[in-house]
Formats: sequence, structure tokens, C-alpha cells
Amino acid sequence: MIQSVTTAPEMSVPAQGSDGPLSDVLSQLRGAVDLLGYDEGLYSLLARARREMTVSIPLRRDTGSVEVLVGYRVQHNLSRGPAKGGLRFSSSVSLDEVRALAMLMTWKCALVDVPFGGAKGGVTFDPRMYSPAEIQRVTRRYTSEMMPLLGPSSDIPAPDIGTDERVMAWMMDTYSTAAAHTVPGVVTGKPVALGGSLGRSSATSLGVFLTARHALDHAGIKAAGARVAVQGYGKVGRGAVRYFYDAGFTVVGVSDEHGAIYNAEGIDVDELDTYFARAGTVVAFAGAETLHDREDLLELDVDVLVPAAVERVITSANVASVSARLVVEGANGPTTPEADAALRANGQLVVPDILANAGGVVVSYFEWVQGNQAYWWTQQEVEDRLAARMELTWNRVLAHASAADLDLRSAAMSLAVKTVAEAHLARGLYP
Ligand code: GLU
Repeated sequence: MIQSVTTAPEMSVPAQGSDGPLSDVLSQLRGAVDLLGYDEGLYSLLARARREMTVSIPLRRDTGSVEVLVGYRVQHNLSRGPAKGGLRFSSSVSLDEVRALAMLMTWKCALVDVPFGGAKGGVTFDPRMYSPAEIQRVTRRYTSEMMPLLGPSSDIPAPDIGTDERVMAWMMDTYSTAAAHTVPGVVTGKPVALGGSLGRSSATSLGVFLTARHALDHAGIKAAGARVAVQGYGKVGRGAVRYFYDAGFTVVGVSDEHGAIYNAEGIDVDELDTYFARAGTVVAFAGAETLHDREDLLELDVDVLVPAAVERVITSANVASVSARLVVEGANGPTTPEADAALRANGQLVVPDILANAGGVVVSYFEWVQGNQAYWWTQQEVEDRLAARMELTWNRVLAHASAADLDLRSAAMSLAVKTVAEAHLARGLYP
């Protein structure tokens, strides 16, 4: 059942002062539009989503009772191609959060020059409190309700917080069953057995690691032995920790939703992974000290801090205690604009989300391309092409930042917004 389909005129764009991920991304957009000298009309166009859909998802629980969840899909911009972006299952999902994340996808796809617009979806529930059969029913009903939006040339979901390749497989199957033929290209981040790409599941982490290395080089810090702390031990953080560790970085701190651990001499990540596989958390790992508060991780004395969990973790309340020389944003929107300004003022380099974590959508694009061609690349080919794309993008952002005397976020945002605006202006306004 479709509860509402709203288009731009009815949508509320909160005032920039209001607090939340949407006000953060709007303030970034405002900065880019001002830098580029675009008018208010273009700002308004880019500040609003192209389409939004809210659906009810009645779920029969395993107990037999029925619960009604709410799901969203927001297509922020379609000027450069099909909408692209993850699907999030989390109790914190709200329409405003999905709007913010959809907008970030538009900039991210433009920055790394993949031919997609930006979108995001979400269902407000905590999948950890539900059985796999229940999660499957939620996924299938969500997909069925969103059928009018989805499609390999219209809107292509991928995993995000709380979703994985299994969820993508159920989405692909539900869509394909309705279409009466198999449509692998309707999602990315699928299992390899269904046309997923080798290297997709580790792509975001690899991109974060490669970008951190470029940033370290730029800052003149030697990678070997550089001290790193990673917030989040999920799809992005865990893989990033592994890349850092294998490359000879000293991983001094790691956290998950249950808490944070610290070892000044460096955590043995092989042992941590063995422990994590058993305990389901990094907390109480014998090879490190468990910190009093999981937020303490953000304050560790490190060269590189990688927030790889959720939005708005570095804020004006804690930024003064963040001492990392580099902040590499593995998560989407982890730094509020006020905290971003404070880090900048303090000479701490922030590598923005739309650059640092773009590896995921780059390999999603590779997966879509491989599927369209029905021709599969080796893992090495995928990783080489990802590394080349990340390096090219890093160099473009850095060159623009130096030439225009901008911080990396402003440089990345203005490149991305310009790319989208040019596509929009070239197409012209209909009617
Ligand atoms: N959810 C990921 C992101 O935030 C990947 C999106 C995609 O591959 O479409 O970038």
C-alpha cells in the first residue's frame, strides 16, 4: 500500500539551523552553490529530492502477530543517469535521514564520475531484533511496494547499514519474479553467484584505505607504523582495519556499538578477528584495553581517525578532543559542519565522505557494467580499476583544492555539484 508519493512542491526543506543530517548536507550544498556562483533557483532545485516514496510494510512476525513498518525511497537527482544508492535497515531511519543520504549519493556518483544519480532507501526497524525469515518478508514487501521506482535503468539499490548481499538477492528475486524474467541489474552488491562483482563487498573499505594512504602522503606522514583508530566494525570499518593492518599501520583503537578497545602498541587484528567471530563484538578482547566509553575512541592520539559507523559522531560537543591529524570519513555524514570548521581551523585534514567512501559505489558501477555486458572481471581487474578511479579522484580534488585555496570537502563538493548542475543545464528544463 502506497501511503504517499510527494514531489518537490510539497516537500519540506528544513531551515539550515535545524539539527540533523539533512541540515548538514544542505549547508554543504549552500557552500558549494555560493562558491560556484549559482543562483537561488539552482540551489532550490538541488536542495530538494526529485521523488520520494513512503510505504507501509505490514510484517507477519514469526509469532503470527502483524506489525506495520515504514519504508522510504528517495531519488534525489536523476540528471546524470539512473538513481543509485543503498538500502538501510535501522531503527534510526527517518525520511530526513534518507533525504540527506540520497543527496550525498548524487554528489558521490558525480565526483567519481559514474553515470548515476543519487538515491537512498530505508526501513525503520532494527534487523537484529528480527529473524532471517522476518527480514526476508520485510525486504520482499518493501521491494514490491517500491516496484514503480526500481529498475536497472531507473533506480538501483545496494547494501548499506543493516543490509547485505542476502537482502540484495531477495530484492532481485522479488523484482525478477514480478517481471517474469531475471533482472540482475536491479541491485548491486549481490552474491557473486547471482551476478555480483568480485571485490564489491570489500570495495568501500579498500577505497577508504587507499584514500587514507593518499592523504597521508599528502600530509607527509609515513604510512608504515602510522597510528590509526577506526570507529565501527561493520561492513566498512572491519575491512578497513584489515587493510590498514596488512599494510603495516599500527591499529591502536577499534570500536563497535557495544564499546571501544585500545592498545597503544597496536592491536593484533588476526587475533581480534578470531575473537570477534566468536563474541560478536570487539569489547573485552584480551589483546587490548576496553575503554570506559565507546566515544573515547574518537579522542585517541592517532595519525588517522576513520569514523566508519553512522552520521554526526564528530560534533561541536566533542571536536575539541579529536586530536587525529587526518579524519577519513568512512561513514556518510559523520562530521557536522560546525565540527568540520573546527577541525579545519585547527589544521586537521578531513577527507570527505563523498571521496573517502566512494569505493563502494564505484564497484557497484563496475558490477552494473559487468552485468550489462555479461562479461566478468577478475578480482584483480576490479581492484586495479577501483584504485585507478580513487587515485584519479583524489588527484582531481587535491588539484582543485590547491588551485582554488579550498579545503578538501569544499573542493569535492564544488566539483560534484558543478558536474550535476552542468548535466541539468545541458538537458534544460521540461516543459
Ligand atoms: N551504501 C553505499 C554508499 O553509501 C553504496 C551505495 C551503492 O553502491 O549504490 O555509498
